[in-house]
Amino acid sequence: MVNDTLQVLTIAGTDSSGGAGVSADLKTFMAQGVYGANVIVSVTAQNTLGVQSVQMIPSEVITQQIQSIAEDLSLSAVKTGMLGDVQTVNTVAKALKKYNFGNYILDPVMVAKGGAKLLSDKAILALKTQLLPLAVMVTPNIPEAEVLSGMTIQTHEDIMAAAYQLQLLGAKNVLLKGGHGKELTVYDFALLADGSHFWLKSQRVDTERTHGTGDTLSAAIAAQRVLGCDMKTAIIKAKAYVDATIRSGIQVGHGHGPLNHLA
Ligand code: PLP
Repeated sequence: MVNDTLQVLTIAGTDSSGGAGVSADLKTFMAQGVYGANVIVSVTAQNTLGVQSVQMIPSEVITQQIQSIAEDLSLSAVKTGMLGDVQTVNTVAKALKKYNFGNYILDPVMVAKGGAKLLSDKAILALKTQLLPLAVMVTPNIPEAEVLSGMTIQTHEDIMAAAYQLQLLGAKNVLLKGGHGKELTVYDFALLADGSHFWLKSQRVDTERTHGTGDTLSAAIAAQRVLGCDMKTAIIKAKAYVDATIRSGIQVGHGHGPLNHLA
């Protein structure tokens, strides 16, 4: 019999090109073998070349979507992606506190690869104070970790210090993604709730087809948690899934093509 608690929710924005945001999350959930529900907080007009416009969804519509799901589905994890503005961060924080879905993975999406800002400055403070303390896991890249920790990150020691700072701010586990630079070897740093830590080393893949990578990684971690993995295993499996997806797939569009499995 299918386990009916293999259900996970994403609270995020849409991407009309189907590459990032809710699209990436739902595809990842399905590929990992869990059921995905989606609460839409923003509608973006975008393609692989950039974000052309963003329309935020009113708070009451977001609250209603979350309530509808909470009243019916049996969720074992939730992830948040692009949240956009301070009202949305506050609305989502209120709902997460009310329903306590457990296993909350916070992907602190701030800027798209093409440079579009996906989180306002005011919202950053709200995310830090309202959402970080609720998160079982936060998955910043280096620029996001710098903003949240208030630290400059240049060395591996800086990465570790910033991760400890994010844990002090309330996130139980931290996965600090090192892939934002140009180095051929990528180092991601994981700091776990029990204080243990490990590095994940991988080789950079020479491709432009990385649209939705961060969303996919955090969605895969949420899915692996739902499937019963401990945090270390969930991180390792999610990272392996993203790496495999970056290495496969067809090019869609003329810019940063979306991750996909179609080749
Ligand atoms: N658009 C939406 C709705 C997103 O949620 C995200 C990432 O979380 C992006 C765009 C940016 O994706 P990327 O930086 O991988 O291009």
